[in-house]
Amino acid sequence: MPLLRETKIYKTFVISVSLAIALVLSGIFLGMSIRTRQLIFDSSLAQARALFSSIVLARKWNASFNGVYVEKKEGVQSNPYLEDPDITASDGRVFTKKNPALMTREISELAKTGGAFVFRITSLRPLNPNNKPDEFEAAALQMFEDGKEEAFKVSVLNEKPYFRYMAPLYVEESCLQCHAKQGYKKGQIRGGISVSFDVDSLQKKLAENTVLILVFAVTTTGLLLGLIYIFTSRLIQRVSDARVEIERMAITDGLTDIFNRRHLLERFEEELERTKRNSSELGCILLDIDYFKKINDTFGHQIGDKVIVEISKILKSSIRAYDVLGRYGGEEFLIVMPDAGAESTMQLAERVRDKVKEFPILGIPVTISAGVSNYQAADETIEKIIRRADHGLYKAKHSGRDRVERSED
Ligand code: GH3
Ligand code: MG
Ligand code: MG
Repeated sequence: MPLLRETKIYKTFVISVSLAIALVLSGIFLGMSIRTRQLIFDSSLAQARALFSSIVLARKWNASFNGVYVEKKEGVQSNPYLEDPDITASDGRVFTKKNPALMTREISELAKTGGAFVFRITSLRPLNPNNKPDEFEAAALQMFEDGKEEAFKVSVLNEKPYFRYMAPLYVEESCLQCHAKQGYKKGQIRGGISVSFDVDSLQKKLAENTVLILVFAVTTTGLLLGLIYIFTSRLIQRVSDARVEIERMAITDGLTDIFNRRHLLERFEEELERTKRNSSELGCILLDIDYFKKINDTFGHQIGDKVIVEISKILKSSIRAYDVLGRYGGEEFLIVMPDAGAESTMQLAERVRDKVKEFPILGIPVTISAGVSNYQAADETIEKIIRRADHGLYKAKHSGRDRVERSED
């Protein structure tokens, strides 16, 4: 699994980046959602304040005239809390006084049928028992006594969410015209007006909005993570391919594509260890092209290189799958043969020698010489085995070349 190493590194990378992105996006979308809720709440509060002010304005207007008179037609009641509320005009028509409190209550009754909002005038000590505060209003009135200037919250009335707002009613100059005798003093709090309106559809829209934001957040996160995953896995693949190629280059000889000297000797050492452990056999063949200088001199270095490549191909096609072949030096090769005794090592050396000289290479008749050695119990290192093979090679060269010789010491 060449990908495994990269996958481990990038897994951590992808997981941490994904977590960071998911966290940041969740934060952004959560922030957006909270901000939207806050905005809606603020706008409800502004609306409630405006409604409250308009009621207070109407009351001031009424108080500025010390109450206003309306004609007492059928259904028009006189205010039972006023002394002499009715007057008769010179034409005989009867008029009754609507003071701010009564006017407020009557508009409040009217508002109940309108549907847009409702309001109530209440007090902790109501003259009219109808003006008794409910739980929210009582708590708000208590807060006003303690110095607070308004109270608001969203609460459920008749199974629907309502925005509820309340602010105190202060005794003003205009109130004293009628209420001075009741001991009212300017600036006193004599109750409050609560305003309530339905925020059900607003909250439903808010919920829809939250769902939309959530869907958007999940889609964006998914999309980003998908992109990261795709690009990272491509990157992993490329890095892995590059590493595999670098690793291959590190152990391969550039000219012949067989193992280089360093890797060849490493593998030889591993095989020697295995041979010692298993008390098995190990063969070694050192090969050298005969009169190679002459080939170089006659045909040039480039042709010399090609001859080296062709011979390495012949060697590669001759060895067994588990034999180890490498370029030992310029035009020298080494074959390590695990589990090979003296006879089979000799056989392979003879076979490649035959194969090389069977056909001219690039039109040039080429021969090789080889020295053969096998593992002996006293061999501590591969150098000892190589030195014996080198001995054999020396013998082969000196007894006329194009031959295989073995050495026992
Ligand atoms: P001998 O039969 O005794 O081995 O004679 P030789 O001419 O082959 O002598 P030797 O093995 O000592 O010389 C090897 C020559 O190979 C020397 C060097 O110029 C040449 N050579 C080494 N590496 C390369 C290479 O990569 N390419 C080419 N073209 N020539 C090389
Ligand atoms: Mg040589
Ligand atoms: Mg040579």
